[in-house]
Order: sequence, then C-alpha cells, then structure tokens
Amino acid sequence: MSAPVTVTDTVAAISTPPGRGGIGIVRLSGPQAASIAMQLVRLRHPLEHAHVRLADVLDSQGDEATRIDEALVTFFAAPNSYTSEDLVEIAAHGSPVVLDLLLRRALELGARLAEPGEFTERAFLSGRLDLTQAEAVRDLIDAQTLTQAHQAASQMGGALSRRVAPVKQALVELIALLEAGIDFAEDDVDVTPEQEIARHIAALASPLAKLEASFSRGRVVHDGLTLAIVGRPNVGKSSLFNRLVERDRAIVTATPGTTRDLVTERISIGGIPIELVDTAGLREGREEAEQLGIARSREALADAALVLVVLDATQPLNDEERRLLTVVEGRPALVAVNKSDLVDPDIAASDSSNSDSKSMDGMPRYSTKCQGTTSEPALSDSRRVPQSLQNESGASAPEENPASQKIPMLPTSALTGDGIPALREKILALATGGAAAEPGMLTNLRQHQAVATALAALADAAKANAGRIPHEMILLDLYRALWALDSLTGQTTPDDILKLIFSTFCIGK
Ligand code: GDP
Repeated sequence: MSAPVTVTDTVAAISTPPGRGGIGIVRLSGPQAASIAMQLVRLRHPLEHAHVRLADVLDSQGDEATRIDEALVTFFAAPNSYTSEDLVEIAAHGSPVVLDLLLRRALELGARLAEPGEFTERAFLSGRLDLTQAEAVRDLIDAQTLTQAHQAASQMGGALSRRVAPVKQALVELIALLEAGIDFAEDDVDVTPEQEIARHIAALASPLAKLEASFSRGRVVHDGLTLAIVGRPNVGKSSLFNRLVERDRAIVTATPGTTRDLVTERISIGGIPIELVDTAGLREGREEAEQLGIARSREALADAALVLVVLDATQPLNDEERRLLTVVEGRPALVAVNKSDLVDPDIAASDSSNSDSKSMDGMPRYSTKCQGTTSEPALSDSRRVPQSLQNESGASAPEENPASQKIPMLPTSALTGDGIPALREKILALATGGAAAEPGMLTNLRQHQAVATALAALADAAKANAGRIPHEMILLDLYRALWALDSLTGQTTPDDILKLIFSTFCIGK
C-alpha cells in the first residue's frame, strides 16, 4: 500500500439526494469538521466519538441566532471514520432550505464544497479502502438489482483484493528470487533453473486467467445488457416482450406493423439488468411512421448485445427471416418459435422422437427439438409449417440454410406462458456466457485491463524464460505484471485516472 496522503482542508456536502425528504444529511470531513459543526448547531452535550447528539440547528451565529431545526449529530474521530479523518454528520429534517443553509454556513466557516466522490477518495488516499473497494461503494449506490448490490458489497468487503493478494505476493517472491540471482551472481548464489521459473510463472498465470474469465459474468452483473426482440410483424414480439416484463407495456394488436417505435423496459433475469427493446416489425413498411420505426429497429438490432429472433410456429420461414437469421449469425442470439399453442401437440409429440437435431444446425423444420430444451415438445407438423427451416424443395438443407449454426431455439407461447421460464434461462445463460457467479469477479473495464496486462506481461516473461533470455529481461516483464496488479488496487494508478474514477461518484459520498 502506498503511503497515505495527508489532507489538510475540510470538505462539506449534502449527502442525501436533492429535494425534500424525511431526513437530510450534511457531512463534514477534515481537521476542522468538529469545530465547524459546533458553530452550526447548539449541542446539549459535547461531541464524542461514535455517539449521537441531539442539537438545535441555528440559522446564524452569535446571540441573534435562532433555532430553525432539530438535528442528530454524529461525530467520528480520526482515524476511525469513513474517510479516516474527523467526520461529522448532521442529520436534520430533509428540508432543502435548512440543508442549504447548513451547507452555506459551513462554507462560510472555512469548509470547501466536496467534489463528487471526495469522501470516498479521502478514504482511498488514507489507505482505508483500495481502489476496487472504492469503486464498489459507487457500484453499491448505483445498484439496480439485489444481485448487483450483493456483488458490490462483496467487492467493498475486499473480495477482489483478497483474490489478487496471493498472486501478487507470489509474484513479488519470484521477483526477489531472480533479483537475488542477479545481485549475488558472483557470490555462488544458485541461478534459478529455467524450469523452476516456468513453473512459478504458470502458477501465477493460472489464477489470473480464471480471474480474467470472471469478467464475462462480472461485467453483465455490473452493466446489464440490451436484448433486442426482432422478427417480422405479428409473430408475437410485443406479446413476448410483455411476458418477459410481466405486465402489459407494448401495444399488442392483430394488425401487422403496430409497434412503430421502440418500446424499452428494464427487467432483471437472475439479477442481471436487461434492457428489453421491442422493435417494429423488420419489414418494408409503406407508411412513413412505420418506416421510421423500422429504421430504429435496425439500429436497435445493431446495438444490442443479445438478439431474440421471434418466428411464428404456424408460418413458413420467409426470405426476410432467412436474411435476419443470417444477420444475427455469429452474434449472441436465440430464436423463439412462438405460438407453440397453435401447434397440434399429437403431431408435435410424434415429431419429438427426432432427437438428434438439437439446434438449428441441420434443422428440417420447427418440429425439430431445440437446443437445450430437450424436454420441450416439438412445434409443428410439416404440413402446417411448410418449409419453415427447409429449403424451397422442402428437403432439409443445412448447408444452404442461413440459420445453419448453433443458435439456440425454443418453443414459446406468449399466450399461455409455455416456454417462457426456459426462455429466461437461456437468455441468462447467453448473457453470462455460461460463467457462474463467484466471489471477487472483475466488474469493470479498468479492472479487466489491469488483469489482462498482467497476464500478457507474464506470457512475455514465460516466452523470455523459454528463450533463455537473461534474467534482467525477464524481470522487466515481471515488474510490468506487478505494476498492472498494483494499478488494479490503486497503488500505481495515475492521478488523472483517479480523478476520473471519483468524478463518477455522487456528491457527498
Ligand atoms: P408483433 O407484431 O410481433 O409484436 O406481434 P404481437 O405481439 O402484436 O402479436 C400479434 C398477434 O398474435 C396478437 O393477436 C397476439 O395476441 C397473437 N399472439 C402473440 N403471441 C401468441 C402466442 O403465443 N399464441 C397465440 N395463439 N397468439 C399469439
């Protein structure tokens, strides 16, 4: 940990959100926090560390001062406070007038208005929190789902730092070993054999690679993602959207082309925030408004991290849908074959014996069972679903089929709700790349970049070692890896990056 930075000024801010509320808090941190607070309020008992005091809030100083509110004042003496400095919290009634007055008077008495995130920045500068923990404070405040809050709380408690610490320790030991070999080369200190160095590097890289892989889940838990629902008009996109949202939001009508604009809604699947975008039917609309909607839905399709293509189980696959499936090829996508309730279950059951087709790969028609949903009934018979996913002659032709890749397919009925839980599960699996939740996941690009840099430096070190390059050169790579790991926890993070990070916090935190 780098040497703590001593901060000499006192900052103040309103820590509760703007507007009226039951309670509003003005916070002061720094060497003058207590002396300024004592001039803002009239205490009935002296301040004492970690004790709450009832006090009158005064509108001014001196004999003229009159009480305009009653507040609870809590004092935390340095270093046992959030910032590690003297810290006072004045919890008054949440009147913006009173809170503004308290803040204005605190500034007149010598405090400075705190920058966004400055209280947490001070906690970081004093060494009480490392950078991953400080970021977690912001993430906790920003959390929109309980899963995000849990993830942030665990990182705030040091889960990520704890995961990195043993790797860093082992890296420092390896560096010391190689340095000793160089420093005492003439004193008969054994030079570490190449195989041993290789073993050490591999032992360092393995947990780091696992940590790097955690980003695929950590990132979606942290950021969420966008899922665009696309398909031609009337296949049931809006109905599926409503099923996923669990209430009526998008307009559902039996006339094709009614969803003219994008309808979005945020849902949570497995604690991951997912922005659902219901698009207009992707067909050539005649009306201007419809065409505008279609243009937007193409944009939404391009922007979305995940695509849900909706097909109609009772209709043959048309050219537009073939094109659409080609467009989503290679992207994280899944297909809902909707209106499964309209498919004759008897024929479906007999078709379901065709068990070796579990994806759209080589799929002759919708009646093929879908990937990952082997217990689901097949969807339709070949008469009612002519050439759904077949070529023009009706024969199965996976090579020519634009969907001849592993896009998961699920039968759904937005009408009855059948297949919706499986659809949610599949969305979750695609969103997380199948990665399980684990403690200390990487959650933002900055963290990921630090670990990726460390891994790349270790790979270079391994290569140099295998090439019998002098240890001085291997050490350069190892120091690069160490620097990257230090930047993860904030020890070597440049000031401008720190400023950038803390500027994303709210004022008063
Ligand atoms: P969109 O144009 O793709 O958004 O389609 P809508 O959601 O507006 O649905 C078009 C029509 O199909 C409406 O009359 C819906 O009630 C109906 N529909 C949607 N999903 C299903 C389903 O799973 N089964 C049946 N039987 N009808 C459905």
